[in-house]
Amino acid sequence: MTLKLHNTLTRKKVPFSPTNPERVTMYVCGPTVYNYAHIGNARPAVVFDVLFRLLSRLYGEGAVVYARNVTDVDDKINAKATEEGVEIGVVTRRYLTAYHEDMGQLGVLRPTIEPHATDYIGPMQAMIAALIERGHAYAAEGHVLFDTSSFADYGKLSGRTLDDMIAGARVEVAPYKRNPADFVMWKPSKPGEPVWDSPWGAGRPGWHIECSAMIEQTLGLPIDIHGGGHDLTFPHHENEIAQGVCAQGDNRPTAYARYWMHNGFLTMDAEKMSKSLGNVLLVHDLMKVFPGEVVRWALLSASYRSPLNWTDDVLAQSRSRLDYLYGVMQRAQGVETGVAGDGDKVLLNALLDDLNTPGAQYELGLRAKALDDAVRTKSSNAPALKAELLVLADILGFLGGDPDAWFKTGVDDDLSGRIETLLQQRIEARAAKDFAAADAIRNELDDMGVVVMDGPAGATWRLK
Ligand code: AMP
Ligand code: ZN
Repeated sequence: MTLKLHNTLTRKKVPFSPTNPERVTMYVCGPTVYNYAHIGNARPAVVFDVLFRLLSRLYGEGAVVYARNVTDVDDKINAKATEEGVEIGVVTRRYLTAYHEDMGQLGVLRPTIEPHATDYIGPMQAMIAALIERGHAYAAEGHVLFDTSSFADYGKLSGRTLDDMIAGARVEVAPYKRNPADFVMWKPSKPGEPVWDSPWGAGRPGWHIECSAMIEQTLGLPIDIHGGGHDLTFPHHENEIAQGVCAQGDNRPTAYARYWMHNGFLTMDAEKMSKSLGNVLLVHDLMKVFPGEVVRWALLSASYRSPLNWTDDVLAQSRSRLDYLYGVMQRAQGVETGVAGDGDKVLLNALLDDLNTPGAQYELGLRAKALDDAVRTKSSNAPALKAELLVLADILGFLGGDPDAWFKTGVDDDLSGRIETLLQQRIEARAAKDFAAADAIRNELDDMGVVVMDGPAGATWRLK
């Protein structure tokens, strides 16, 4: 059973083999905590959560060390704190808590390590010092810059030449730069911004050095897998590689991270999400209307590398798939969970093929259908089929909830109380052999959109 992953660095789908199968390392660039996460930000969190779960299944629980950082020093954070007239920590704590809550609702597991940039200023400075020492960086006017001409493979990840980068105007021109593409690793703080002493003047780190230093400190170099949204390929990841490789006195990009994975972008009705278009959808708001699992299903409904167009349709389809799956689970409630007979091979086929989540969702549907048939025909295969369904569902992060509760989400206590009362009256009517009354109650429930399911243990209900 081989996991194949598309490696951005080589632009090929290749078999994945970790340096040490007993300690598989992965890192994903995490949130900058100055606002609520939007649904696009949730995409990498959910996609790499599936990878984390899959690797844990393949290499063993506890064999995968997953770090996702928190960027808690940044211009946007400072701006927000100034705007609100509060300490920076107030802003970062508030939005990190919200991030954890939102991602928790989406079924995203906590990574093994969640390093905060501000706790790693020492290692960042040590890495910068090493780069200066090795002739890859220079200090100028309170800044320290990485000398991009000193690293032959600069641009290899994104496939850009230095000329492309300059023409692309994504590099800031500044008088103290030797080459326009050189980037900042340390810079003076503006008034009111956080500030740390350093050999190059009081200031603060640049964004790229944060990740390189945290990776080196928390996971050790090289790591197996580095992930993030595809917008980070250049300049962020390109710069991370340059720093991480050169600080070790190496020259191979793989000395920093061996496999690079990038998720495609999520668009809203085919448009880019942006504040100016007013189409930024926050996870926080979406959660008020949809169960987290529905949103998670929608996020995994396209291959992680493809763009994902977010529409009401995608959400409606996701809900209907989950209704079907939970319906099967509800009908299989009396079936014990047995031992998966099929082995992981067929079950994981789609996921092993570069994390093909839509394929895995399809497979989940087939398994559910097989289980449903087995339950209906009282086949002895049902327990094994149920086990297989649950193994795959768990790697994808679905079906962890109670099936009865699933069909009652969005039902307030009032409504649920009325339904329970009617059901009780129906039981009494039947006991009194007043079948006309029992049928009338059933019709009333039907008009309310309630489906009554009579089973050996009494009647259960759900909304249509
Ligand atoms: P940020 O907080 O902006 O640094 O973004 C956090 C993560 O979300 C990064 O990995 C980004 O690449 C990713 N991201 C941001 N916007 C989108 C989007 N619309 N679709 C997919 N991923 C996104
Ligand atoms: Zn990063």
